Amino acid sequence: MDERISELHRLIEESERIVFFGGAGVSTESGIPDFRSVDGLYNQKYKYPPETILSRSFFEAMPEEFFRFYRDKLVVTGAKPNAAHKYLAHLEERGKLAAVITQNIDGLHEAAGSKKVLELHGTLLENYCVRCKRRYGPNVVMECEGVPRCQCGGVIRPDIVLYEEGLSGRVLRESVDHIARADLMIIGGTSLAVYPAAGLINYFRGRNLVLINKSPTAVDSEAQLVIPGKIGEVCAKLWAMEQD
Ligand code: NAD
Repeated sequence: MDERISELHRLIEESERIVFFGGAGVSTESGIPDFRSVDGLYNQKYKYPPETILSRSFFEAMPEEFFRFYRDKLVVTGAKPNAAHKYLAHLEERGKLAAVITQNIDGLHEAAGSKKVLELHGTLLENYCVRCKRRYGPNVVMECEGVPRCQCGGVIRPDIVLYEEGLSGRVLRESVDHIARADLMIIGGTSLAVYPAAGLINYFRGRNLVLINKSPTAVDSEAQLVIPGKIGEVCAKLWAMEQD
C-alpha cells in the first residue's frame, strides 16, 4: 500500500493539471455516511430507499417525509473537512490541481479552502422557494419543523439535484472541459454508480488515471494505479511525503 502511495506522490509531482473526481466516500471520514458502504444509507432500515426519497416525485408528493430524512440523515451538524478535503485544497494552492469535481452536496471542499469546486449535484448550503425563487441561507431547513415555507407560502427546498432532475449545463460543460485537459485524474470515494455524473470520466484523455477507493469499481482495470484504502489516510500520507 505505501509503495502505491509513493507512486501517486511521484505522479502528482510530475503533473501540472490534475483533476479530482469524487463522491460520498470523501466525506465518510468526516462522519457523513455514504450510500453504498456497509454502514451507508442503503443498508439502514428506512421505509423507502434513499434514491426514492431524494427524487423529485417523492419530494413533491411527500415533502414531510423528505424533510424528515433530510434532517435525520442528510445534514450532519458539525461535520468538518478531513485530510482529503484539506490536501486537495493544498494541491490547488500549489498550482497543481485545476478543479475538484464532486458528487457531494455537503460543502466540505469549499470549507477546506478549495476555490474551483464543481458541484455536480448542487449544495445543501443553499435553498430556494419553489414558487417565487427567493434564495435562503444554509440553516433555513434546520431552524424550523416540518416543511419549510417561504413568506409567499411556497415550499423552500435545498439547491440540490434530485433524482429525476437534470444536472446544471454550466457545471457539466466546465467539468468536461477540466477533465479533457487534465494530465492526471484522481478518482476517489465514489462507487461510480450514479449517472450521468460517473460518465464524465470518459472524457479523460490524459496519461494517468488513479483510483483511491475502499471497494473495487468498474474502472479499476482502466487505471494506472489503484489504491484500495481510506482516502483521508492516503492523503495524509501524501502530504507527509511532500514535507520529507
Ligand atoms: P456511494 O455511496 O455510491 O459510494 C461511495 C464509495 O466510496 C464506495 O465505493 C465506498 O467503498 C467508498 N468509500 C467510502 N468511504 C471511503 C473512504 N474513507 N475512502 C475511500 N473510499 C471510501 O457514493 P457516490 O458514488 O458519491 O454516489 C452516491 C450519491 O449520493 C452521489 O450522487 C452523492 O451526491 C450522494 N451523497 C452525497 C453525500 C455527501 O455529500 N457527503 C453523502 C451521501 C450520498
